[in-house]
Amino acid sequence: MLNIPYGKQDIDEEDIAAVVKVLKSDFITQGPVISQFEEEFAKRVGAKFAVAVSNGTTALHIAYLASGMTQGSKVWTTPNTFVATSNAALYIGAEVAFVDICPKTYNISIEDLKRKLVESKESGTLPDFVVPVHFSGLSCEMDQISLLAKEYGFKVIEDASHAYGASFNKNAVGSCEFSTAVTFSFHPVKIVTTGEGGIITTNDEKLYEKLKILRTHGITHDPSLMPSLKEGPWHYQQIVQGFNYRMTDIQAALGLSQLKKTEKFIRRRREIAEYYNEKLKHLPLLLPDSTRLQESSWHLYVIQLLKHDRLEIFNKLREQKIGVNVHYIPVNSQPYYRSLGHDPLHTPIALKYYQNCLSLPIFPTIQQYELDYVIETLSGLLT
Ligand SMILES: *Cc1c(COP(=O)(O)O)cnc(C)c1O
Repeated sequence: MLNIPYGKQDIDEEDIAAVVKVLKSDFITQGPVISQFEEEFAKRVGAKFAVAVSNGTTALHIAYLASGMTQGSKVWTTPNTFVATSNAALYIGAEVAFVDICPKTYNISIEDLKRKLVESKESGTLPDFVVPVHFSGLSCEMDQISLLAKEYGFKVIEDASHAYGASFNKNAVGSCEFSTAVTFSFHPVKIVTTGEGGIITTNDEKLYEKLKILRTHGITHDPSLMPSLKEGPWHYQQIVQGFNYRMTDIQAALGLSQLKKTEKFIRRRREIAEYYNEKLKHLPLLLPDSTRLQESSWHLYVIQLLKHDRLEIFNKLREQKIGVNVHYIPVNSQPYYRSLGHDPLHTPIALKYYQNCLSLPIFPTIQQYELDYVIETLSGLLT
């Protein structure tokens, strides 16, 4: 019996051999593979520096901290994201607000962002940070966001958990062309995996140094960063409050091996998206915006049902062992966020989108007959 998930990792023998090699080596954590992985990742996305961490959420947390987010900082993001994007700001005691999404890209709406900026300028409540999320792997309009950042004086941290391998105007996502830092997740459903894992890229050397210290308890071994004299070779000093957010060498070895497959993975994801676009176009659906098909990393393939009840179609597809999913429940509709005063009615486009959206299976190892099965089953339900 078929059982098709919406997303899944692709691990081959080469990946397994890379992990085994580390397991047999002297260091399974805090060893040499971490920096090899970081250097290779930075090179691939065209950034100067990369810091690997335990997951995409901790990547966001220390990216926020290192770039100066503090208690009371005003942080704007999209409700169409995983809760981690805004939760990591709440860890710091920041005040989160949500900007509505664009009905075409499902990313943060530039129009709504502008409108809110004008309003908040008048009331003296401009944001300190804006966190665009490249939903489904399609980059936000970063040129416009960075112009607004200059005009209104906020910092930009990109949550690129979906968008490793994506580009914007020929720039790889992660290059930090338009932002202070970019974060990625290596959860198994994402583009490449380390089991659990994340990374932050930046071109700012000071930020890079801060990230490395925050990742490991706020401790430094570098005498030039120590407030007091080093008492001997053993002497480290804790200079800020930090965390244990380290990635292991076992994970980094898997990541390094996975990076080699980037082009193959992305090519296959684009092929699948193109195939769905072609085969589903006659159905009463809103298909993903395909004008930037070649730029997206296609982490997700999201359709909107135009005439049918989403719950009913979702259940019927699941009965047929097709692992459809819903991305995302608006963060501002979560009970915890409501308890903080948020309300999904503040972002009506995201709310309406949520009521009709459905993510179809997309991952590199999906078989042609599985794709055809998804298409035939969905077609049968909608016609
Ligand atoms: C997956 C994801 C995260 C969190 O990453 P983890 O590695 O699961 O901690 C954050 N933001 C978005 C948009 C994600 O999809």
